[in-house]
Amino acid sequence: MTIFEKIIAKEIPAKLAYEDDEVIAIHDINPQAPVHVLVIPKRVIPRIGQAQATDAPLLGRLLLTASKIAADLGLADSGYRVVINHGRNGGETVPHLHVHVLGGRRMSWPPG
Ligand code: AMP
Repeated sequence: MTIFEKIIAKEIPAKLAYEDDEVIAIHDINPQAPVHVLVIPKRVIPRIGQAQATDAPLLGRLLLTASKIAADLGLADSGYRVVINHGRNGGETVPHLHVHVLGGRRMSWPPG
């Protein structure tokens, strides 16, 4: 079980930003911006590269949830970044697909 499955199962605590039947969103334990939320599907897809065509509705839901949370947290006007890390070079550390929503400061480009 990944740490996110344990959070979804309420076996370990997390600061909840949003939850519905398919998706949970939590505040990152090690935030990289004033707002740093993780949007996580309850059904495990290890990483974006392993998503299938049948996962398209869930992937859409993750992005729409990211947008809603960003708006709810007051980031819509100032802007924010949505990130998915895949694999070692992408910086993935938890093998359970999740979308980072980062905001509250100016992001640099290219990313580090
Ligand atoms: P990634 O590196 O893209 O796989 O992202 C994993 C993220 O999960 C990192 O930003 C971690 O800080 C975050 N994280 C790990 N454990 C927890 C936890 N228990 N609660 C909240 N966020 C966590």
